[in-house]
Amino acid sequence: MSRKEEIAHNLETVRANIAAVVAHPVTLIAVTKTFPASDVQILKELGVIDFGENRDSEGAEKSAVVPGTWHFQGQIQSNKLKSITSWASVIHSLDDPRHFEIIEKVAPHPLSIFLQVSLDGAHNRGGAGVDQLYHLAELVSESTVHTLAGLMSVPPVEMDPDMAYSQLAVIRNEFLLRFPAANSLSAGMSGDYQSAISHGATHVRVGSSILGSRSPHR
Ligand SMILES: *Cc1c(COP(=O)(O)O)cnc(C)c1O
Repeated sequence: MSRKEEIAHNLETVRANIAAVVAHPVTLIAVTKTFPASDVQILKELGVIDFGENRDSEGAEKSAVVPGTWHFQGQIQSNKLKSITSWASVIHSLDDPRHFEIIEKVAPHPLSIFLQVSLDGAHNRGGAGVDQLYHLAELVSESTVHTLAGLMSVPPVEMDPDMAYSQLAVIRNEFLLRFPAANSLSAGMSGDYQSAISHGATHVRVGSSILGSRSPHR
């Protein structure tokens, strides 16, 4: 099987699995971290337009080769924001008001912004606590340039995905009462995107189910 056939097959499976849960369209973001630009090019040829990266350097490099809608979903470092906002048009991982202040100063174009919510107290995988979420949402929603898209979350590894995503749905429903326009939900990865969609995800971020396994720590 060629690499293109392999990716096409995986992509078809993921798309069918999504369609099996909901009839409405869900934005499928192909997470291309650690994979070469040649794979991104193949995805593009197969009709994928949304690509996700966790690291500024990788995103900058691949987005220069393959145009599309590029999503940044990694931990934000202040000194990388100028570069990140030059190639990404969507940020999934805002969890700190100071980072948004920098974005307002340095971003060369309007961004769509998800706020990352932590589902555990430890904030291990990033994310704002529910207590900090509303302040952050107010800041972003007051911007005349950038758009508050909604919420994003990565469930704690030890947590059952169904439990995590039903908890997230509760947080989101409450959030929508205050920010009704911010109705996107970025949730779901290779192991759990069907569960996330059944709990309302509008954007799923899928890497290994499409492109194969990465080294364990990424
Ligand atoms: C790596 C990563 C993904 C994709 O993970 P897979 O299990 O490969 O689908 C999604 N979201 C975030 C934040 C990630 O870091």
